[in-house]
Amino acid sequence: MSYKTTKKHFDYFKKCCLKYTVEFGLGEWQLFFDHGSCFGNDCDDFASINFADNNFDKIVTLSLSNDWGDVAPINRRIDFAAYHEVAHIVLFPMVCCLLEYYSDKMVQSLWHEAIRRMEKSKFGNELAVGFCDE
Ligand SMILES: [Zn+2]
Repeated sequence: MSYKTTKKHFDYFKKCCLKYTVEFGLGEWQLFFDHGSCFGNDCDDFASINFADNNFDKIVTLSLSNDWGDVAPINRRIDFAAYHEVAHIVLFPMVCCLLEYYSDKMVQSLWHEAIRRMEKSKFGNELAVGFCDE
């Protein structure tokens, strides 16, 4: 079974992303949304995030993949994917500083380690384990 996301899923993804940007107080960021291909350097195939080339612009595109493979795109998983991508924004300024000194691989690993802890705090183990493993 190969699950595809629909406009309804995409609208819910956008709603969840906006909810979390408000919760985290990320109002200074300009958000764009994309439904279709995943791009950028994120960990999974369900959603992705792409930061503008100039880190000071605070412009980001959040993308929901249209192909979820054998994972059903139920609302709770979409909510989880949105939280994951917005958590990337929360940590991004620190990540930019770390990239001045450490390898991309190490920084990516630390970035996701912190996000996993945030996810576990928010969602418990239900979705945080096994859904978005690297
Ligand atoms: Zn990620």
